[in-house]
Amino acid sequence: MAGCSGCGGELEPGWKFCIRCGARIQVLEPTRESVPEPAPEPGPAVEARESPMRTALLIGGGLVVVAGAIWLMAAMVLRAIG
Ligand SMILES: [Zn+2]
Repeated sequence: MAGCSGCGGELEPGWKFCIRCGARIQVLEPTRESVPEPAPEPGPAVEARESPMRTALLIGGGLVVVAGAIWLMAAMVLRAIG
């Protein structure tokens, strides 16, 4: 068991500060060491933030392409008919 950094006294698990001298205890929790907190991943978050705009652009571009193709087909059909 680690001793208090302030008075050197024995510390009980779960204490957040020494009851003798009041020094704050830096608790080294084994669970926290074995399972570190997952750091926020900036990559996916940024992609998720950008994805709606990209999706809108993709859909818009796709609609333009489809509309152009339909227009071209219609023009060809009209030309073939006419
Ligand atoms: Zn102490």
